[in-house]
Amino acid sequence: MSAALILDRSRCDRARIARDPRFDGQFFTGVLTTRIYCRPICPVKPAKSRNVVFFPTAAAAERAGFRPCLRCRPETAPGTPAWLGAAASVSRALRLIGQGFLDDGKTVDDLAETLGMTARHLRRLFGRHAGASPTAVATTRRVQRAKALLDQTALPMSAIAFAAGFASIRRFNAAFRAVYRRPPSAIRRGKRQHREACPARQAHHRA
Ligand SMILES: [Zn+2]
Repeated sequence: MSAALILDRSRCDRARIARDPRFDGQFFTGVLTTRIYCRPICPVKPAKSRNVVFFPTAAAAERAGFRPCLRCRPETAPGTPAWLGAAASVSRALRLIGQGFLDDGKTVDDLAETLGMTARHLRRLFGRHAGASPTAVATTRRVQRAKALLDQTALPMSAIAFAAGFASIRRFNAAFRAVYRRPPSAIRRGKRQHREACPARQAHHRA
């Protein structure tokens, strides 16, 4: 059973077309024509229903080859998905990973032990409910934290890498490129150019 099946497709589709904020963080929409994934509240004109797929986590969307949208910024989506009510241990694991459990040398075995189960069982639960392994979820979280720091701070790259939980700048660069298909410096440069070309308060409509 794939994680996508746990999501109710018609419910997700209604929510993203309505840009219903109650669903923000509960699922992500992958647009097949652009290979970009979005939050339900994305300001970009919604894609046709036949061109979208839904994912329970950002990590699952990335695993399927989708890039995060630069407009709605999935890295800033709130909290843990509500659908995890049925799998409280996955919910707890996601919270621990979000807090950096797997960033300081601890392994998936340690995480499983903390949750009182075997690593094998934990991986199986993640496959079913999160659509990605605990390790993939942890990598996504690190890249998300780094992206938020790139957008919100003027910290040097090395400081961002370590603050986001990467063990080295090389790993930070590799993981970031794998997700955004561009180096972290390009995000910051793009932001600066955009700001210069587009003064504050002026609405912009570039997708
Ligand atoms: Zn978007």
